[in-house]
Amino acid sequence: MSLANGRPYLAIPGPSVAPDRVLNAMHQPSVNIYEGPLHDMADSLFPDLKAVARTTNRVALYIGNGHASWEAALTNVFSRGDKALVLATGIFGVGWGEAAQGLGIDVQTLDFGRRSGIDLEQVEQALRADKSHEIKAVLATHTDTATTIRNDIAALRKCIDTTGHPALLMVDCIASLGCDRFEMDDWGVDVVVAASQKGLMTPPGLCFVWFSDKADRMHESADLTTPYWNWTTRAKSPELFRKFGGTAPVQHIFGLREALDMLAEEGIEAVWARHEKLAQAVWAALECWGTSGPIEMNISDPALRSNAVTSVRIGAPDGTRLRKWLEANTGVTLGIGLGMGSDDDPDSDGFFRIAHMGHVNAHMVLGVLAAIQSGLIALDIPHGTGALEAAARIVATA
Ligand SMILES: *Cc1c(COP(=O)(O)O)cnc(C)c1O
Repeated sequence: MSLANGRPYLAIPGPSVAPDRVLNAMHQPSVNIYEGPLHDMADSLFPDLKAVARTTNRVALYIGNGHASWEAALTNVFSRGDKALVLATGIFGVGWGEAAQGLGIDVQTLDFGRRSGIDLEQVEQALRADKSHEIKAVLATHTDTATTIRNDIAALRKCIDTTGHPALLMVDCIASLGCDRFEMDDWGVDVVVAASQKGLMTPPGLCFVWFSDKADRMHESADLTTPYWNWTTRAKSPELFRKFGGTAPVQHIFGLREALDMLAEEGIEAVWARHEKLAQAVWAALECWGTSGPIEMNISDPALRSNAVTSVRIGAPDGTRLRKWLEANTGVTLGIGLGMGSDDDPDSDGFFRIAHMGHVNAHMVLGVLAAIQSGLIALDIPHGTGALEAAARIVATA
């Protein structure tokens, strides 16, 4: 017998759990892509996507994953040889920088390691040192899904402003949009990228780039722009065919429409509050386990932790042992220690991640924590007591 039989729970930070409502909405035959109701439905995605990112700016939609959105954003604003300042707080920040470099952008990286957020003093120094304003944009990650650092984007904007530097602020919100508070307009972000399969609760396959007028002006002279990724066509064409650069992803449009309805019904503030509370339940459990034994959250300062995913240090090989045990015995799949190891063990066996992003509620998160508790007992991994009680207390005070 196996206690894993029953509905599985993929508690990895993307793809996140797809709601039945979204899956059912997608389970429909293709419809006419040249005229008819699909057009109105596709048009309705644009204002709602702007609402989720809290902006009145424009948004471009693409068939692609998060990596595609990186390239879409970069090619629309940069010219070959332009300089970018990349602020890395984990593998995704590093990855966006590598994508830029691969496109022929001159990348200057400030790497803040795997356990701390962006150090604004260093950013300020780098921008002040750039007297001729060669840096065209600052690239930052809101939540780095590997380290599970959440950077303070509003503070980063203020820091850029104090230097008087005109660089654009471009932010990867792939792991935070629809999970953590994010205010594109209030925080003065010029370019935002996200994808469908995390907080937006839709299967992987769509990605989005929001852009300000300032970014759009830079776009006018950007020579890396290609016809397919050009955001002007995507964001401003009236025809559906041009909005998607070809055949519209019909079923994904149905799914995203449903997901955006769900977010609107709950209210984005309530969505953020739910993520915050559930994250606190996860952290309360981890703190208890960590009072005795090897378990430790990768980010010690709660103010720097993502509300969508938590990276945990447990020591090799127990991260991998625990993940495998949970999958085989409880139906829960935890995230791997993506990019947290060394050259010979890049996705470290000494880590695991718990995703609490998107379509998750208290019983799912409490279930994951209880499954981890079972794994710690079964594998004889030392841990402190009271974790489930502590998590339940957070839920009880919701
Ligand atoms: C998931 C993720 C990506 C990459 O998205 P893919 O869809 O896997 O290409 C990039 N950045 C962040 C912050 C992410 O969480």
